[in-house]
Amino acid sequence: MSSLEKTLGVIREMARTVEENRKTLTQLDSAIGDGDHGTNLSRGFKAALESLESSSPGTPAEALKAVSMAMIGKVGGASGPLYGTAFLRASSSLGGKEDLSGEDVAAAIVAALEGVKQRGKAELEDKTMVDALEPAAEAARSAAGEGAAAVFRAAAEAARKGADETEPLVARRGRASYLGPRSAGHVDPGAASTALLFEAASRALEE
Ligand code: ADP
Ligand code: MG
Ligand code: MG
Repeated sequence: MSSLEKTLGVIREMARTVEENRKTLTQLDSAIGDGDHGTNLSRGFKAALESLESSSPGTPAEALKAVSMAMIGKVGGASGPLYGTAFLRASSSLGGKEDLSGEDVAAAIVAALEGVKQRGKAELEDKTMVDALEPAAEAARSAAGEGAAAVFRAAAEAARKGADETEPLVARRGRASYLGPRSAGHVDPGAASTALLFEAASRALEE
């Protein structure tokens, strides 16, 4: 299977996973935000799939760019521009490459993290998607020599642990920060969705 086909498989599995977890993500966001994170991502991934149907991308980077544009154009809120930036940076880091190595995939994940941090100004333990994405990027870098599937497996495990560890934190960025200490005791919805997206990517490559 080509890297383009694998990338499309990853995106489809991400979209399916978002749909399956739409309610859960929205419930997490109802606890410490405005209850739209699941519907936001669902709208974005639906638009991404439509765009991929109509545009037939020629490279992994083009496929990721279509996801980015859908996130930026259709999602709104905080997560739209942030996930849009993540997919755009991942796309740019791959350039015109057609065969992706574990190193390429790890570099794309690191680029996504850098984009999100630049755009959202969140650091570790601010209780945001960075708490899942940063450990994922570190794990990805460590597994880079073992191939793309191993990179996503390591990233998914680290992202899930990072997301779980947001529960006791007090939010310092995004809507949840308006709640102050009352934001503690709930997992951050964006960290949860980041973990789900890496798990989806990992599953898609194991199959
Ligand atoms: P909104 O909060 O605008 O309704 P969403 O509900 O879709 O948008 O997304 C909320 C998630 O976005 C949060 O759970 C958090 O993970 C993430 N987020 C918010 N602000 C930031 C930020 N500055 N940097 C990184 N992630 C952020
Ligand atoms: Mg919200
Ligand atoms: Mg909102």
